[in-house]
Amino acid sequence: NKQIVFKDYVVGYPKETDMELRSSEPSIMVPPEEGGLLLKNLYLSCDPYMRGRMSKPIPNASYVNSFVPGSVITGYGVSQVIDSRHPDFQVGDLVWGFTGWELFTLLPTPLGLTKIKYTNDHNIPLSYYTGILGMPGLTAYVGFHEICSPKKGETVYVSAASGAVGQLVGQFAKLMGCYVVGSAGTKEKVELLKNKFGFDDAFNYKEEQDLTAALKRFFPQGIDIYFENVGGRMLDAVLLNMNVHGRIAVCGLISQYNLTEHDGVHNLFCMITKRIRMQGFVEPDHKHMYPQFLELVVQYIREGKIVYMEDTAEGLEEAPSALIGLFSGRNVGKQVVCIRHD
Ligand code: NDP
Repeated sequence: NKQIVFKDYVVGYPKETDMELRSSEPSIMVPPEEGGLLLKNLYLSCDPYMRGRMSKPIPNASYVNSFVPGSVITGYGVSQVIDSRHPDFQVGDLVWGFTGWELFTLLPTPLGLTKIKYTNDHNIPLSYYTGILGMPGLTAYVGFHEICSPKKGETVYVSAASGAVGQLVGQFAKLMGCYVVGSAGTKEKVELLKNKFGFDDAFNYKEEQDLTAALKRFFPQGIDIYFENVGGRMLDAVLLNMNVHGRIAVCGLISQYNLTEHDGVHNLFCMITKRIRMQGFVEPDHKHMYPQFLELVVQYIREGKIVYMEDTAEGLEEAPSALIGLFSGRNVGKQVVCIRHD
């Protein structure tokens, strides 16, 4: 087996050297215990929340456990069952859910695994279950439709808009008949937002000296809905540009994940004056919506109503640098790792 092992807790920006590749002799695979599965991993998902798992655990500060130094990194992935001692799973089944950053994973229980219904045979690439048809997709869907309470014609702003979650939020908002603007960190991403994902407009936040003025330029009538992926200075600028009774879905705060001291937000008073509803949410609370979400989004993909973009790193050994790349914006679209078994 080959594995990516987490070395030790991280302070500040993570580095590739915080993880290392470990190889063991390809001895005979240990079979699973009663109720367990042996998985062959096919795709791994690189997700920003994994940065939180690299920090020393702080009680009540996170909704996921920290990685254990010296142990294999775990995260979402797509896998094939190659041995099963669980009645609900057969050899050959394709699944998505929590697995290890390794070629093969022995799971004591299939808790949190979902059997894959639509495959390459249905023209749906398996890697999509790390993104549009997996955790980030459901996040975009519930975050926009459940938390933002959108109405046709409203103005919507999405930050980190070209990423896994953002590109979908923008498209859901367009399908709803909203006016949508996104921001991202490069010229290439801004072009994608406008020309591929169908945002009404987009800008490079790194080129704007004054974010408040930039938002005023793109939203002269104000923002009704903000889908928050970054936090910090951006949130402050948004608060000043929100409309009365606006909604903010707090999905993530990626600009803060590597800071030892978080940026303070100064304009919270706007929440009172403008009666803004700001709500944090986490995707695991909304798992019950997965079946309806899956059917809808598969149909959207087939009808060409939604497009989707991935950034694929080839090989398990590339996974650490792919993960780190999320924090410098190196990924263009959803960051996936394709595992080679040659
Ligand atoms: P992305 O695919 O968007 O990748 C991360 C992107 O964030 C980078 O490409 C970069 O794009 C941007 N970024 C990185 N650092 C900064 C910074 N300092 N300031 C502004 N932008 C930055 O990731 P996801 O779509 O998977 O995740 C987006 C957000 O959603 C994250 O905050 C994540 O934690 C959150 N999330 C929350 C979930 C929940 O259940 N609440 C579930 C899944 C994700 P750019 O070039 O534009 O800077």
